[in-house]
Amino acid sequence: MGIKFNCRVIFLLLAVIAFSCLGISAQDNSYPAIYAKQPRFKALIYYTENAEEAHIKFARDAIDFFTRLTDGEGFILEVTTSLATYDLDSLKEFNTIIALNCSPSDPEERRLFETYMETGGGWLGFHAAAYNDKNTGWPWLNRFLGCGQFYCNNWPPQPALLEVEVIDSPVTKNLPTSFVAPATEWYQWHPSPRQNPEVEVMLSLSPKNYPFGLKDVVLSGDFPVVWRNSNYRMIYLNFGHGDRCFSDATQNLLTVNAFRYVVSLDPAGDPFLE
Ligand code: ZN
Repeated sequence: MGIKFNCRVIFLLLAVIAFSCLGISAQDNSYPAIYAKQPRFKALIYYTENAEEAHIKFARDAIDFFTRLTDGEGFILEVTTSLATYDLDSLKEFNTIIALNCSPSDPEERRLFETYMETGGGWLGFHAAAYNDKNTGWPWLNRFLGCGQFYCNNWPPQPALLEVEVIDSPVTKNLPTSFVAPATEWYQWHPSPRQNPEVEVMLSLSPKNYPFGLKDVVLSGDFPVVWRNSNYRMIYLNFGHGDRCFSDATQNLLTVNAFRYVVSLDPAGDPFLE
């Protein structure tokens, strides 16, 4: 009896050890990191030096910010001040265009950008990249943005309390429900993108900011700050004026989230899963 009992104990012990080993090997199979063997995608920064000084300052800070994100060559970043040197094939090599302070004004560059976006291109736009008024003469841009023209702004640039309206999006992941964003000039649009059923407004200025401004004082109205038009692979972020826009960790997280979200929706597949 004693010998049989010991055999059973030894068998059970061996079984426990075997299962433990299987457990360890299962953990090995689910190693938690995917290291890039080569750059995962290409992005193109598009900006102009022919802009007001505060918009050029923002562009230079943004180029530095996105260049740092390429550390380790996770992606390739090109910087251009003109789309004229690209055709559709060469532009489509870029997963996403990061528009810092302008949109194209040349008719051919506009057509190229339209075709790029209509055929699955990506766009992360800041501040003046969406600016348009009665002189812009580009109705497609408003369909793309999902809103009307520039309507009004606060002055001078100042920090503002932002409210996160959509909490279950990768764009707002790990953000607090509200936070104070660094000083910038904030735009209103008429009509607001919120009126468009194809648009999802993710962050906006809190009404608690009113009256808002010191010289030009805005008393009311809708200030959407971050939105996407579901007809395109795009996110627009309204900040982008002056040299404070990358001074806040929470807003930097939002910027990386938004960039990552646009890139991940590449029709050719999510490059972060490779
Ligand atoms: Zn501005």
